[in-house]
Amino acid sequence: MGPQDQPEYINAVMAVETGLPPLELLHALQHIELAHGRVRARRWGERTLDLDILLYGDRQINTTELSVPHKGLAERAFVLYPLSEIAPDLYIPGYGKLSELLMHCPYVGIRRLNDDESIS
Ligand code: AMP
Repeated sequence: MGPQDQPEYINAVMAVETGLPPLELLHALQHIELAHGRVRARRWGERTLDLDILLYGDRQINTTELSVPHKGLAERAFVLYPLSEIAPDLYIPGYGKLSELLMHCPYVGIRRLNDDESIS
C-alpha cells in the first residue's frame, strides 16, 4: 500500500476480547498510538505505530470514522497470512472465507519473522 520506497515494517495480528464498543475501541487504539509518540511522515507512508481494527466479531460497520472489516484487508498479504495463523477458519463478513481469500492473495513481498529474530 502507498509509497513503494518506504522501509520494511513489521505487521502483526492479534485477537482480543473487549467490553468496548467498536468506536470506543478505535479511540482506545488511537490513544495508544499517540502515547507511543506516533509520527507519520506522509499520507499512506511509514509510521512509527499503526493500530487498526481488522474485524469486530461478525459486525459490519461503515461510518465516516470506522470501516469494519477494515478496507483493503482482503488484498493484503501482510494482513491475511498473519490472520490465518490465529484464525484459519475465519469467515470475514462481506468477503467470505479467509481460506479462499488466501488463494487469491500470493505470498509475495512478505516474510515471517523467526521466533528468535530481533525486531528492534
Ligand atoms: P490510519 O491511517 O490507519 O491511522 O487510519 C486513519 C483513519 O482511518 C482513522 O482516523 C480512522 O478514523 C479510520 N478508520 C476507518 N476504519 C478503521 C479501522 N477499521 N481501524 C482503524 N482506523 C480506521
